[in-house]
Amino acid sequence: MNIGPILVRTLHHFFPEFTAWIDQIPDPRFPPLVIYHKRFLIWWGLSLFLCKLTSRRQLDYQLNTDGSEVLNNLNRLASTAQQTRPVNQTLEYFLGKIGSAPIAWLRQRMVQRLLRMKALDEARLQGRFVVLVDGTGYLVFRVPHCDHCLTQRHGETILYMHQVLEAKLLGPARTVLSMATEFIDNRDAAATPAGASADQLKQDCELKALRRLAAGLRAAFPQLRICLGGDGLYACGEGFQVAKDYKSDYIYTFKPGRLPALWQEFQALLRLCPENQVAGTTPEGVRQVYRWVNDLHYTDSDGRAWTFQAIACTETDSEGNRSEWSWITSLKVSHQTVVAVATHGGRQRWRAENEGFNTQKNSGLNLEHAYSHTCWPAYYFLLQIAHLLLQLVEKGSLLRQLAQEQGKRTAVELFGSLKNMAQRLLDSLRYRCWPEEAFDRAAAGTIQIRLDSS
Ligand SMILES: [Zn+2]
Repeated sequence: MNIGPILVRTLHHFFPEFTAWIDQIPDPRFPPLVIYHKRFLIWWGLSLFLCKLTSRRQLDYQLNTDGSEVLNNLNRLASTAQQTRPVNQTLEYFLGKIGSAPIAWLRQRMVQRLLRMKALDEARLQGRFVVLVDGTGYLVFRVPHCDHCLTQRHGETILYMHQVLEAKLLGPARTVLSMATEFIDNRDAAATPAGASADQLKQDCELKALRRLAAGLRAAFPQLRICLGGDGLYACGEGFQVAKDYKSDYIYTFKPGRLPALWQEFQALLRLCPENQVAGTTPEGVRQVYRWVNDLHYTDSDGRAWTFQAIACTETDSEGNRSEWSWITSLKVSHQTVVAVATHGGRQRWRAENEGFNTQKNSGLNLEHAYSHTCWPAYYFLLQIAHLLLQLVEKGSLLRQLAQEQGKRTAVELFGSLKNMAQRLLDSLRYRCWPEEAFDRAAAGTIQIRLDSS
């Protein structure tokens, strides 16, 4: 087996209904020249990200007729019988017609399926899934791009931007799965007074988007037990109210500057309950001390009363360097739970940065590239779906088995880097006829794929 058939097996194992889902996407009306099936076009679009082609035009070069097996492999993935390949504008036309909503819906079905098959259960914290909320810059232009760009002045130049706020589920084996998305634009910035600081603007925009994001998340996953994770800007009345309104728990970073009076009280109460302490040393020799206060009371600027727990963690490494973190959480904190809450909830925020956005920006998925000037959200969701699939392949036991068959320990050892994996996948898609057995859905359902943490 090579990487291509492993992708197919992984797809059919986790998402046996993938083709049926695409069939539920509305059919656009096409010009009568060449008709491409929507299933084929979705796979054409996903290939752009699975093979990390980095720009839409590369579809025409990398998946052209030099690749003798491209059409054959994609036809079987899509259950179609296309005789020719589309060009990149065909994809653009198609996505422009169907819009981004069906692609976002496809992503939702995939996450729902993973949850239903309990593939992610190992990552639960006190029975809840930790869902990180994190915003990032997305598209930046030097000329006005649309009516809704955020603008930012840098000296003489004005930048036109779009930002995005994501809800990312922390799965097992350090997977980070996109569950819901809100794009942030100047409609969010509208009520912020002119001349407000960049921080104030960011805060206003992200808090407004947080409410929409949580509403969308709840609508898509009505029964799911969720614990929102977020940075210090969410530790405020609105951040607590959003969690309450959408029946979620929360772990937010607690920063002294964000809630100064509460911070003072927290420090005073910590001294009054010295028994609330757990200390230990990590295998790397880092000394950790966790302290906490239960039932801390806070009244926000709108007069709403809140009660929650606060945790402080002090770390001292073998060279004596000290660092400190604090969080506010609605979860139960005790001698038994404090380390898990701080580690799996609070400290995991970096994962959204490292394994979510950074990977999507820097690994060849090219998040900040404008794949389209008109239907960019559709490409955004295709990227999220491809990244989800790639993570399941990368962390799944099929790839590990392949590595071991070839005398290597891990996929990274096998390919040199995960970036190289995309190149291998492209080579496989182009030149290797993926065996019929790889497409056997019944067989894919019976195999075991474990997501491996090591
Ligand atoms: Zn714009």
